[in-house]
Amino acid sequence: MSVVTRFAPSPTGYLHVGGARTALYSWLYAKSQGGEFVLRIEDTDIERSTEQAKQAILEGMDWLGLHHTKGPYYQTERFDTYNQYIDQLLEQGKAYKCFMTAEELNEIRDEQEKRGEKRRYPGTWRDRSDHPSDKPYSIRFKNPLEGAVSFKDHIRGDITVDNSELDDLIIRRTDGAPTYNFCVVIDDWEMGITHVVRGEDHINNTPRQINILEALGAPVPEYAHVSMILGDDGQKLSKRHGAVSVMQYRDDGYLPQAVLNYLVRLGWSHGDQEIFSVDEMISLFSLDNISKSASAFNTEKLNWLNQHYMKTLPGSEVAEHAKWHFEDQNVNTTNGPSIESVIAIQAERVDTLKELVSISRYFFEEFEDFDANAAKKHLRPVAKANLLLAQEKLAAIVDWTAENIQQAINDTATELEVGMGKVGMPLRVAVTGSGNSPSLDVTLALINQTQVVQRIDKAVEFISNRENS
Ligand code: GLU
Repeated sequence: MSVVTRFAPSPTGYLHVGGARTALYSWLYAKSQGGEFVLRIEDTDIERSTEQAKQAILEGMDWLGLHHTKGPYYQTERFDTYNQYIDQLLEQGKAYKCFMTAEELNEIRDEQEKRGEKRRYPGTWRDRSDHPSDKPYSIRFKNPLEGAVSFKDHIRGDITVDNSELDDLIIRRTDGAPTYNFCVVIDDWEMGITHVVRGEDHINNTPRQINILEALGAPVPEYAHVSMILGDDGQKLSKRHGAVSVMQYRDDGYLPQAVLNYLVRLGWSHGDQEIFSVDEMISLFSLDNISKSASAFNTEKLNWLNQHYMKTLPGSEVAEHAKWHFEDQNVNTTNGPSIESVIAIQAERVDTLKELVSISRYFFEEFEDFDANAAKKHLRPVAKANLLLAQEKLAAIVDWTAENIQQAINDTATELEVGMGKVGMPLRVAVTGSGNSPSLDVTLALINQTQVVQRIDKAVEFISNRENS
């Protein structure tokens, strides 16, 4: 049997991290088994589904690299199919017309509640044939009255629900629209889904869906219901915890590899291992190692993973993602060093690509002001002579390399008989605008020699102005 899994989001908002993790598990399982991965957009709730949300889901899946091999299918394009099966069940006596109005049903349910019973449809029209000809009706599925439904959940183990707990589900509303649970059943069957990986909020639907599958003579897939994600405060993850949309993580400067690695570990483990390349995830993943308990979000860990991937992925790959952020922050990188070379020296200083860009502007553009504190401390009158001599030596370099730059700085300090810091710090502030940068030799080497010389001029002028004021 070849494995087919699916991700079936309802397009009522962005792709959130919980959905993305479910999608990842489903995708990984298909990949690990050499199977297919279906993307199905469950847009039957026409009022809440938006085109924008559909695009956001496709964009999020694409950014994460969770590419489907079949689909995307849209449920709204498949109403005829669902209706054919509903008609078939009606003909076979496995479904029936129900003429009860919503008001009538509510009254019955209120009575049940008063008696301390569960609110449910009591099967009023199940066996009746005295159908009125002029009243609207819904179609209900004849749930078995006896016995129980059992299934083995890959995450939660054996689950059994008595049929007496389940009432007859509406499968087509009075307005003619097939209902959610029915569409899922037909799709899972027609799309050949062998493994349903989805959120635990759907676990109550599963026994109902199994009964319908069985009535249709369809095979029952295997199930894995994934637990939810909590925020770092133990509450259900929501907007109040910051980013919950996958694309927000891109905007905040995370690499898709870091997000995937983070998400896979959020509820799945393989020994103590923390770092997993996508290929490793695929080869090690199993549905049976997914944790049953809710997982708590931990931004620090995501940051740590992101830095790891910024430092270890091929530079060209990180540069592609960084490029997006340079553009996003309006930094023109056409003139200046390669983005890759900047990442090589800056990655260890930041957690995200967004921060990386914000501390790397000086490689690509002139800055207006020096950082006030750094300037106050290091661009002082005593530093002027040091800067001027360093400038002379830097300007004289024929081959602009980190090695020669280091030599020029060393020579300046030796000649002036001052410590390296007395030359290095003013120079750092002069060229980068702040007191923080990677080692000066490699930093300056990435900036054009003429620019370095001009920036020192600016710093010297700044000191002169300070002397005169
Ligand atoms: N469309 C459902 C949701 O977004 C998922 C249904 C399923 O996976 O069966 O929650």
